Amino acid sequence: MTTKRHKIPRLGLTGGIGSGKSTALAYLHELGAAVISSDDVVHELYAREDIVAAIRERYGERVMAGGGVDRRVLGRIVFKDVAELQWLEGLLHPHVRATVDAWAKGQLKARPRPALIAAEVPLLFETGMSGVFDYVMLITAPEDARRRRLTAKLTESEFTRRLAQQMPEEEKVARSDFVFVNTGARKALRDFVQDAVANILAAADTAEAAEAAAAAEAAEAGGEESR
Ligand code: ADP
Repeated sequence: MTTKRHKIPRLGLTGGIGSGKSTALAYLHELGAAVISSDDVVHELYAREDIVAAIRERYGERVMAGGGVDRRVLGRIVFKDVAELQWLEGLLHPHVRATVDAWAKGQLKARPRPALIAAEVPLLFETGMSGVFDYVMLITAPEDARRRRLTAKLTESEFTRRLAQQMPEEEKVARSDFVFVNTGARKALRDFVQDAVANILAAADTAEAAEAAAAAEAAEAGGEESR
């Protein structure tokens, strides 16, 4: 957790692949949070001319398809080579961070204004994005459960490769405010998300009440001085 508090509390949602992040994000949305997924932001970045040009310059025409980036070919290159993955992340992440931050600021003008902002960022710690958020929620699950759930999404070797890029689970646990081991029913995950939201909103209410009380006290003191 950072000391910085935003007017609308910001929750970063992270976890290893197949842990249940997207499911938790959907629950947060159901509970009224304004939500964004960094994967969607990345998807949009691949349509930007400057990003496309930088990728073309590094890898040539083999990664291009129909004027855009062929993400399958690019994925095959970077998941084989950590240095290339780091290069790509270095290219994309400052934009992801800026986009998520700008989107979160924009929520202040949204009507009705959301009580909570949530962003799903798979590599939240690895890319140094924890500072963007007031709270971090980590969804975790043992590797075998994640592998089982994801067999439809990914091939076995892809899963193992992607797993290798991630920070050790214990370190993520230590750096998170809310941690859920997603091995039970979906309902348990939903209840956990609901409790976390209630905690965050209660803390925001308490902070707001304290601010209002301090402001009232200051106004009163000012009034007394001028009397
Ligand atoms: P992530 O976004 O972390 O990769 P998902 O939320 O997409 O993970 O979850 C991976 C798969 O596991 C999805 O098909 C999802 O519906 C399923 N899933 C998530 N949580 C549970 C759970 N508690 N029990 C059973 N299946 C689950």
